Amino acid sequence: MTRTELSTIGEFGLISRINQQFTPQLSQTIKGIGDDAAVIDTGTDEYLLVSTDMLVEGVHFDLSYAPLKHLGYKAIAVNVSDIAAMNGIPRQVTVSVGLSNRFSVEAIDELYAGIQAACEAYKVDLVGGDTTASRSGLVISVTALGVVEKSKIAYRNGAKPNDIICVTGDLGAAYVGLQLLEREKREFLENPNMQPELEDKSYVVGRQLKPEARTDIVYELQDAGVIPTSMIDISDGLASEILHLCTQSGVGAQVFEENLPIADETYLANDEFKLSPLTGALNGGEDYELLFTIQQSDYEKIKNSPHISFVGFMTNQPDQVELITKGGGRFPIQAQGWQHLSK
Ligand code: ADP
Ligand code: MG
Repeated sequence: MTRTELSTIGEFGLISRINQQFTPQLSQTIKGIGDDAAVIDTGTDEYLLVSTDMLVEGVHFDLSYAPLKHLGYKAIAVNVSDIAAMNGIPRQVTVSVGLSNRFSVEAIDELYAGIQAACEAYKVDLVGGDTTASRSGLVISVTALGVVEKSKIAYRNGAKPNDIICVTGDLGAAYVGLQLLEREKREFLENPNMQPELEDKSYVVGRQLKPEARTDIVYELQDAGVIPTSMIDISDGLASEILHLCTQSGVGAQVFEENLPIADETYLANDEFKLSPLTGALNGGEDYELLFTIQQSDYEKIKNSPHISFVGFMTNQPDQVELITKGGGRFPIQAQGWQHLSK
């Protein structure tokens, strides 16, 4: 028997390997593996949406700077984000936790205070879960259920050439926020008497520690009468997500650097690290904004939205997914994303 290292196929390779082994057997399973949420037909006008995400200590969060309350909030928000990415509305969540006796009752109360705050913010009910011991740090797994009117669902594979590419909010802040938190941690470990210097960094740090799911955009598009032709949430960075939309839709894309939404606070924080805000926006991840495409004829309906930037368009050349730089250069967009399995 040969042994193949997981790092040789990576996270996406592993998911596609699993996907190949499981063809849906039920006619109610409209979409299985491969989108932001699974899509189930329950025989009404709405589809049921189901999405799961797991957060693992030491991989997705570091308790030396992530307060448990924020962590609880984030665990719900990132799952709600996957429901929003189907143009859906979240309804219920289940929360499973793996814990060690390192945590006090009060600490777990804090975690659940954050979960509760998110349940209120997104109007979802916590309806169950599981509790178990963990020998390798805190593990939080959330499953979110949601609904979408059948005629309004947005898959990753519906983009057409000439569709306009849209991004909500701004990009790259969560990544530079993480760099700041990691730096403060290193400095604190070297000199525990030091005071953290994060006062004027609250925007980018907040974007890392307490992201929001863009359920508001689902309502905004609905009010405007716009159904995205494709949609995904930006968990791994714009580059990786635009490639998902292009691959699954069989189209190419041109994205214009000058149209990418990057906050002033993000530029300032990147300056300190001599990092490029463009790299953070393309490959940083954890922004939990929505990336979607619309038909050109829908542009008028949302062009004045303060929450949406129009960053490019889809093309009929599937092998060309390009960034057009401010200077007019053209570069292929490559996914870096998070490669947990190669560590
Ligand atoms: P997202 O970033 O939107 O959460 P992922 O990249 O985690 O999406 O997952 C992509 C797809 O693969 C989803 O449909 C998800 O349900 C599925 N998936 C991920 N891991 C597994 C697994 N271990 N078994 C079955 N399906 C999986
Ligand atoms: Mg997603």
